[in-house]
Amino acid sequence: MSSQVTCNCCQKRNAVISLDYSGLDLCPQCFCELFERRVRKANRDFAMLRRGDRIVVGVSGGKDSAAMLHVLDKLAKKIGNITLVPVLVDEGIKGYREKAKKKAEALCKAHGYALTVYSFSDLSNHSLDQIIKLREKSQDPQFRTMGACAICGTLRKYLLNKAALKLKANKVAIGHNADDIGQTFLMNVLRADPDGVSRLGPVSENDEDGLTVPRIKPLIYVPERECAYYCELKGLSYHLGECPYAVEAFRGIVKDFLNDSEKKYPGIKFNVLKSYLNLRTQLEGSSSAKSNAKQPSGKCEKCGGKCAKKVCRACQVLEFLGK
Ligand code: SF4
Repeated sequence: MSSQVTCNCCQKRNAVISLDYSGLDLCPQCFCELFERRVRKANRDFAMLRRGDRIVVGVSGGKDSAAMLHVLDKLAKKIGNITLVPVLVDEGIKGYREKAKKKAEALCKAHGYALTVYSFSDLSNHSLDQIIKLREKSQDPQFRTMGACAICGTLRKYLLNKAALKLKANKVAIGHNADDIGQTFLMNVLRADPDGVSRLGPVSENDEDGLTVPRIKPLIYVPERECAYYCELKGLSYHLGECPYAVEAFRGIVKDFLNDSEKKYPGIKFNVLKSYLNLRTQLEGSSSAKSNAKQPSGKCEKCGGKCAKKVCRACQVLEFLGK
């Protein structure tokens, strides 16, 4: 902030952050309290954390997961009898993931956790960099047209679930923030993918087969920009670089559109999030739809995981890689 403004909340300290969508100027302390209140609200609204939980926390080294681990650590201690198990998925992206991994290790160490790492190479004998080279040479039209993020996201989700099963966790926490949810919602609308919309919820359904560990999204009410502020103010270790494959993502176009719109019409990103949450409740026509993302009802014939087709997307990608 350029000139000195008093915090609108405590009316005492100097404001350092302007939240244009609400017109609030906040000091570091009041901002961090607001941030944590939003995570607690998400927890209350969607019943994310329970005593006795053992939660794999997806940590990438980035700002979102750093903020998530810090707040979940506080919340878990407050609720009691909750174990957090930070897990990093190393996709094998040269010049990017190694740096982020170091930051994630430092973050976990500072919070007293060991970081467990699962890598794409262990799963498929190929790093993401190698998979992308194979994709470019592939004769298979389905594989050749898959975006790097679609491949990466599919294998990452599969690996995190595998990690959760192996580590005997009953939940996986992922650092999707309000921007991510809004972007994914719009992407699903633009792709005419209503199933994608119904799977997007803040908490996924329990799986009676025990093969798909439910996912929770504690940052659903937190804008992306504020995760970075929070990390800075709390002195959390995080990596600022951008993945080299991000440029080819459709998400980038939707993200730019929402960021530009937010500048012109502050609050629009929250409106997209609200629209998504309202639409889900209305579409499903039940109160449970407010909290539970629908799992597909079929099973993958290769891995047995929940899947709308005969073979799930992760098993398809592994097939392309000869596994
Ligand atoms: Fe993976 Fe895409 Fe994210 Fe890079 S930007 S880490 S390729 S999902």
